[in-house]
Amino acid sequence: MKKYLFILLFSIFLGFPTLASAKQHVPILVYHSIAEYNGTGSKELYVTPENFEKQITYLRDHGFTLLSFEHWSDRSKVTKPILLTFDDGYKNNKNVLTVFQKLESSHFKPKATIFVISDFIGHSNRLSPTDLKIFVESGYFSIQSHTATHPDLTKINNYEHELKDSKERIERITGKPVFALSYPYGSFNKKVVQETKKYYSFGLTTTPELFIEKGIKDELYYFPRIYVKNSTTIADFAKIVD
Ligand SMILES: [Zn+2]
Repeated sequence: MKKYLFILLFSIFLGFPTLASAKQHVPILVYHSIAEYNGTGSKELYVTPENFEKQITYLRDHGFTLLSFEHWSDRSKVTKPILLTFDDGYKNNKNVLTVFQKLESSHFKPKATIFVISDFIGHSNRLSPTDLKIFVESGYFSIQSHTATHPDLTKINNYEHELKDSKERIERITGKPVFALSYPYGSFNKKVVQETKKYYSFGLTTTPELFIEKGIKDELYYFPRIYVKNSTTIADFAKIVD
């Protein structure tokens, strides 16, 4: 009898991590430029390569698992899942590749998702088709869509170019599926979500919260993301992710 009680208690004990992970918090971070601020645009959108390296080192040394949306379904199977995203497809995101190459180890495989504006690919300060191919071949990056021209999607009527053409152009360049969309300016409404669902499986906002699965309708189209800024200290960063 004692034996059965033991087995019963043991299975309850084993059940706990599963229950806990069902409600797990997943931080999804959003970055733009990884570069020294050069005086143009908003300084807060620049994270220096030095700070970025400190942040990724923190994640590595604290046992985080970096995921991309291809592996979204693995989030409950890994320890401390986190997603890193980069909007706008700036050329200086090459610094991300450099940091990842430096910090990769047998225990730590860096991953990130870059949301590119498809009509801007190859512009002087943006990643080129060749850059994108190198990124994909590195195994670190998933290249996804940030629309074709970066409009406020709540203010347009013709979604086909922004959503469908953008997806197809990126797929032609990388040879990989494009199934996630980051809404420009984090701007969305019901109509935008309805249009996004025609071509994408995920939609990302900039609502500054951790993701917690609630089981509500269309929740994969309302992903919150937290900005990492120029002024974010490593102590702030630790607070965001832990
Ligand atoms: Zn943007």
